[in-house]
Amino acid sequence: MSLTQSFASRASRMTASEIRELLKLLDKPGLISFAGGIPDPALFPAQEFAAAFARGLAPEQQAQSLQYSISEGYLPLREWIAGEMAKIGVPCTVDNILITSGSQQALDYLGKLFLSPGDTALVGWPTYLGALAAFNAYEPRYDQLSVSGNRTAASYVAGAEAEGGRVKLAYLSADFANPTGETLGQQGREALLDMTEELECALIEDAAYQALRYDGEAVPPILATEIARRGSIEDCRTIYCGSFSKTLSPGLRLGWVVAAKPVISQLVLMKQAADLHTATLNQIAVHDVASRVFDSHVETIRTAYRQRRDVMLDALSAHMPDGVTWTRPEGGMFIWLTLPAGLNGADLLERSIDSVGVAFVPGSAFFADKSGENTIRLSFSCSDEAQINEGIMRLGQVIRGA
Ligand code: PMP
Repeated sequence: MSLTQSFASRASRMTASEIRELLKLLDKPGLISFAGGIPDPALFPAQEFAAAFARGLAPEQQAQSLQYSISEGYLPLREWIAGEMAKIGVPCTVDNILITSGSQQALDYLGKLFLSPGDTALVGWPTYLGALAAFNAYEPRYDQLSVSGNRTAASYVAGAEAEGGRVKLAYLSADFANPTGETLGQQGREALLDMTEELECALIEDAAYQALRYDGEAVPPILATEIARRGSIEDCRTIYCGSFSKTLSPGLRLGWVVAAKPVISQLVLMKQAADLHTATLNQIAVHDVASRVFDSHVETIRTAYRQRRDVMLDALSAHMPDGVTWTRPEGGMFIWLTLPAGLNGADLLERSIDSVGVAFVPGSAFFADKSGENTIRLSFSCSDEAQINEGIMRLGQVIRGA
């Protein structure tokens, strides 16, 4: 007996990526991996969390910390987030904030909120793979949102709308994007706001890496720019998704959404239906740690990642053959390489793992149309200086020989 015929149509859009299969090869001994886009565990504020969980589990706290709690999220944590948002130009109240189980859950809920089957989502070519995975369940079409530097354009006019698919949302990571590491400039953000206004669609600003700036001038969040335009968050189309995963810990699954109240109210209903609320004890512990050490801890990890980025950029200059180009991110965890036309990132990965023991992610995984064959993503977050130098030297050899 097989139940597969009974699966809903949405299940056919939820498939394991070939890339994840390839990356299972990563347990090879001695492998240097630039594949995972994850924080370095050596940089977790582990002592602070041990103490915070102990405080959260003290006898007088247990009735609260081990109990169900409200779907909106732990109030002191939302108050702390409202304070941080004000510092980056987003004045809002706790009623504009929903705590989610990681920002990945926010992407799922936003797909559920905006996308009916056949609606169009505008995403970058490339974009964050997890956003495509989250939206896929709601059976959208994708069209290309083209943003870079100060430019914003979308191919929606000739594409999906002509076929009747209404554009419901545009999604992007405007700061140190996964996978390219690029940041959209202020003019590009303004142009994007003009475009979403014209399309009357939502704009999802994924701020997962926003706190990890290593140099250059900070660009205000898109939501801050829109609030400055309209006067109040209640009139904004931008929905901001934040995360503690890259700053404090991804394992605790803590993220948040900031948006106009009607959007938050609807998301609260979704959260009630899906998982009631994010783990109470985790919210209490994250609030405890964030309110004690957030700024100093973020400064520590910025210093560490800045150094690794610099080492990787220098190693690329030293070892890449002519014809390979790459981004120079001002923050985040990723550098994006474009190989000479005709080279294929997935083939190169197999060869690279087999012959020189270096892993990365082939870029085509991040394209809704599976193009970008000659691109690859490198992450510098989890490797030390020696590994970066050695790994990039070996990668240069493999590309030369390809
Ligand atoms: N957005 C982007 C751009 C990401 O890279 C990630 C994690 N890799 C997420 C969202 C999801 O993060 P989390 O659910 O851990 O907050």
